[in-house]
Amino acid sequence: MSVEGSQGSTGRYRPTNSNDPGWDYGQPVDGNRDHVKCDFCGHVSKGGIKRLKQHLVKASYKGTMYKDVRKCDKVPQDVVDVLRSFMEGKQKIPKRNKVRKTR
Ligand SMILES: [Zn+2]
Repeated sequence: MSVEGSQGSTGRYRPTNSNDPGWDYGQPVDGNRDHVKCDFCGHVSKGGIKRLKQHLVKASYKGTMYKDVRKCDKVPQDVVDVLRSFMEGKQKIPKRNKVRKTR
């Protein structure tokens, strides 16, 4: 066991300082954070938590999104919604319409 992170009261693994909701739905295999096992179908994503999240949300995207990723057959829709909003919120960095902070 040499993986950084902590097992909280839930007994689940979560990296230090990570608020990534992906860790609520997948866990490392043999302490290897690059191999994350899906809680729902048992599929192991070998590209870390980012890949696992792509595996979970893939079914909700049309077409060729994440085409190298196997989709999850068992993930509940509400989990997909949580992960999608997290992922999309991270990706969208608004460059226009800067919000001016006034105090
Ligand atoms: Zn899965």
